[in-house]
Amino acid sequence: MKKLLCLFLTLTLALASAAAFSEAQPEAPLFTPGTYSGEAQGIFVPVKVMVRVSENEIQTVLIDATGETPSLGGIAAEKLAMSIMKAQTPNVDAVSGATVTSKAIIAAATQALEKAGADISVLDKNRKDKGSGGAKAEKSIDTEVVIIGAGGAGMTAAIMLKQAGIDFVILEKMPYVGGNTTKATGGMNASETHYQKEQDIPDSNALFAADTMKGGHALNDSSLVAVMANNSADAIDWLDTIGAELPKISFSGGATVNRIHAPADGSGVGEFLVNRFSAKLTELGVDVMLETAATELITDAEGKLTGVKAESPDTAYTINAKAVILATGGFGANEEMYTTYRPDLKGTVTTNAPGATGDGIVMAQALGADLVDIEQIQLHPTVEQTTSILITESVRGDGAILVNQSGVRFTNELLTRDAVSKAELAQEGSYAYVIFDQNLRDHLKAIEKYVKSGITMQADTIEVLAEQLNIDPATLAKTLADWNEIVKNQRDTQFGRTTGMNADLTTPPYYAIKIAPGIHHTMGGVKIDTAAEVINTEGKAIPGLFAAGEVCGGVHGGNRLGGNAVADIVIFGRIAAESAIAYLGK
Ligand code: ADP
Repeated sequence: MKKLLCLFLTLTLALASAAAFSEAQPEAPLFTPGTYSGEAQGIFVPVKVMVRVSENEIQTVLIDATGETPSLGGIAAEKLAMSIMKAQTPNVDAVSGATVTSKAIIAAATQALEKAGADISVLDKNRKDKGSGGAKAEKSIDTEVVIIGAGGAGMTAAIMLKQAGIDFVILEKMPYVGGNTTKATGGMNASETHYQKEQDIPDSNALFAADTMKGGHALNDSSLVAVMANNSADAIDWLDTIGAELPKISFSGGATVNRIHAPADGSGVGEFLVNRFSAKLTELGVDVMLETAATELITDAEGKLTGVKAESPDTAYTINAKAVILATGGFGANEEMYTTYRPDLKGTVTTNAPGATGDGIVMAQALGADLVDIEQIQLHPTVEQTTSILITESVRGDGAILVNQSGVRFTNELLTRDAVSKAELAQEGSYAYVIFDQNLRDHLKAIEKYVKSGITMQADTIEVLAEQLNIDPATLAKTLADWNEIVKNQRDTQFGRTTGMNADLTTPPYYAIKIAPGIHHTMGGVKIDTAAEVINTEGKAIPGLFAAGEVCGGVHGGNRLGGNAVADIVIFGRIAAESAIAYLGK
């Protein structure tokens, strides 16, 4: 049904556009009229494109990319159908964040058009989307608040402002909302919640705060951590009110008790929340200004914040406002920026969404904002390097081991992310292999995605798998035999692992994924106080400037615990909105 709807929407879009983009006809026919199809492999599935052409015009572009990353595949399909119609050539720009899917769509469209007799170089020469190339239109908007960024923190703040009747605009530089939040898989940490009470889980805000400080090597700002813990149960209640319930509670690394709250249906918390937030914003009548990047915070002659400058592909905006909420996320996708603060990370791949480029940090600094813990960057230890696909911790949690190129284990695989990453970097080549078996694959849905994307190697015996990996077969076989003994005895005498030992690895086929650490979360950022006011280098709040989420530093210290990023965005997103409302005197 969803697929049909997507096809229908794309078709509607494309048909609607045909009339708008048709131009004067060239002399020789470009196509043999008719309907043609093409196909090319995306990340997970083949992407299909159908085109309908007249002699001189691409009239319809139908794209089916629904088997790809659920949200991005659909967005890429819609955007590229529009772009191809507009340009009248398949050679259009990829949708950032969905590059592989975009390339597959372009390849499939090229194939279909070539079947229609097109000479693609002629289509490129005649391309129709370059327009006059003239200056952008200028537009000025007057409002009360500008929210920059529509990830988890920005959308939370937007719902709060709308519910309070505040006039605001929300800017998002990508063609889609969600940012890094979409990628969060685990859940949201919260203490003393009604869900914990209903499930007889004893917890306290003090314990949540203590665990977070310990996890962050006590580098965290303890006042921010206390605010996060003390407001976490309220945030869960608020999520209930907007139809984003997180009732499923389980254990997550670094917590003393079961504290991580997840959606009932087992879906990834990020995708779930982004969908619910988007639906709520639509219901409330809020339009996110997509593909509109804030470029600068503007001030008057006395240096007082007066708004934001922003750019969309065709318009330069001046948005006059009394308050601004920075919700631009981190800088894990900006190699130049993270290597400035951490030269040792040069060349490290990233798991981050492409919009995580640190814009909010740079814009706030121009107004004198102070930064905290900016060099604290979390690496995720299991990232496949050619695709940046993150191999979820659950694979190790369910029983996988890590081996190096010599075929031996080298760490307790379930230590904190920073410790496992460090251990990997100390191995020959600075990489390792995640090894698991068919039994584990059968129990963990996420693995299907890895297999489909072609990053797994598999063999019916450990020895053959070892050969594929260029590892000595006898050594890998012994490592597996030793591991299975450890599971049997529930005692890891080598590395002291105590979790993820419920099942041995004895069911063929056996699997391996080559991995190394990848940039995951930037813990540092702009300095805020407990009211989410941005603090300048003199220790004073910058009037009217608020920030929430990954753009800020201080909450996570030197290491972020799983479940605390989502807590951070919802709790501080709400606080930033409340503070902005108070600042307006409402
Ligand atoms: P958080 O978890 O803190 O909410 P996310 O990464 O989920 O952070 O969301 C941040 C959002 O901000 C992303 O969607 C990103 O594309 C967007 N963004 C980043 N810089 C800008 C900018 N200059 N203008 C508008 N949006 C931006």
